[in-house]
Amino acid sequence: MKYTVTDKGYYGQFGGAYIPEMLYPNVEELRSNYLQIMYEEEFQKEFNELLKDFVGRPTPLYFATRLSERYATRIYLKREDLCHTGAHKINNTIGQILLAKRLGKKKIIAETGAGQHGVATATVCALMGMECTVYMGKHDMERQRPNVERMRILGTTVVPVLSGSMTLKDATNEAMRHWINHPVDTHYIIGSVVGPHPYPDIVARFQSVISKEMKEQLIEAEGNPFPDYVIACVGGGSNAAGAFYHYLEAEHVNLVGVEAAGKGVQSGQSAATTVLGKPGILHGSKTLLMQTEDGQVVEPYSISAGLDYPGIGPMHAHLFDVGRVQFLSATDDEAMEAGIELSRMEGIIPAIETAHALAMLKKMEFDRDDVVVINLSGRGDKDLETYIKWGKY
Ligand SMILES: *Cc1c(COP(=O)(O)O)cnc(C)c1O
Repeated sequence: MKYTVTDKGYYGQFGGAYIPEMLYPNVEELRSNYLQIMYEEEFQKEFNELLKDFVGRPTPLYFATRLSERYATRIYLKREDLCHTGAHKINNTIGQILLAKRLGKKKIIAETGAGQHGVATATVCALMGMECTVYMGKHDMERQRPNVERMRILGTTVVPVLSGSMTLKDATNEAMRHWINHPVDTHYIIGSVVGPHPYPDIVARFQSVISKEMKEQLIEAEGNPFPDYVIACVGGGSNAAGAFYHYLEAEHVNLVGVEAAGKGVQSGQSAATTVLGKPGILHGSKTLLMQTEDGQVVEPYSISAGLDYPGIGPMHAHLFDVGRVQFLSATDDEAMEAGIELSRMEGIIPAIETAHALAMLKKMEFDRDDVVVINLSGRGDKDLETYIKWGKY
C-alpha cells in the first residue's frame, strides 16, 4: 500500500503527530487501539447496520443522463447528498462514536466551522445518548445560525469561542484544550482527514465506504469497477479520501481533487492550498498549508464554508506531492454556475462545496466513452442563503 499511512503515521514526508505533551496520552490511547477495534466483527456489524438503517446507505450511484449528453461523456453522481443530515460527514461521526464507546468514553467534544460537522456529531450523540459539547467561533455562530439551533435541538451544548478571529481555528484550539483537561472520559471527534495521527487514517477508513460502494455499483452498471475519473472537492479532504480510497493503487483511474480558488488563485482571497501552500504544521500534523514567510497561517477564503480551510489533510499533501492525484480549482463563480447547472439539468441542488467538483465538467476534456464519477458530497439546502445572495438564476 503505497499511498496509505505508515505505522509511524506518515504519508511520505507528511503526517505524524505534532502535539503538546499533555495531549500525548489521549492520542496514544487512540493510536494503539483503533485498528483492532475498528476491524472487530461486532464493531463492523454495528457500523454497517447503522450506515444502512440510520444513514441510508448504500447511497445511489446515479447516471446523470442530461449532464452526460451535454458533456459528451458518461457521468455518474455518487449521491452522498442523500445521507442523513445531508452530506458524507455522518459516515465518520457514526464510526467515531462507536470507537469512543468501545474505548469507554462517556462524553464527546468536537469543533465546527460552518456547523455541518457539528450537526453530524450532535446527531450521533443523540442517537447514542452521549453528552456532546461543540466548540464554535462566535463569528461562525452568527453566520450559521440554523446549524447552531439544529445542534441545540439535538441536545448539544454549543460553546461560543471568543478568542482570535472567532472562527474554526480558534474553535479547534479550544476543543484541544478541553480534551487535555478531560482525557479520561472524553473523545474528540475530528471531522476531516486532518489532525494528528491516527485521525487522518481513522476518518479516511470510515469514509472509504464511498469508494467501496462505487466499485460494486460500477460492476453492476458498467461491468467494470474502475472508472476513468473520480472527481471530488477538497476542504480538509474527507469526502475525496473516501471516494479515492479503494482506487489509490489502481493507477489507471484518474483521481482529481478540486480546491476552492475563491475570487481567483492569485487574488489574495483563495483556499487553493496545493498552489499557495508550503509544508508546515497545522492542527497536529505536517502538511501543506497557506502561510506567510514567517509561518503565520493565512486566512483562507471561499464562498463555501466547508472549503474555507488553510490546509489539506496529510494524505492529500502526499498524493499531490507524488502526483497520484491531480489537483485543480474552481472559483466562486465557476462553482455557483455549476451548482445552478446541476439544479436545472438533473433536479439536484448541490452543496456549494460539491459544486466546485461539478465545475470540472467545463474545465476538463473527456472522451465519449469515459466513465466519470463525481462525488456529490452534500446537498444545497444549507446553502440557500448563498444561492439567493449570488442571485444569478
Ligand atoms: C464539510 C464538507 C466538505 C468539505 O470537507 P472534506 O473533509 O474536504 O470532505 C465538502 N462537502 C460538503 C457537503 C461538506 O459538508
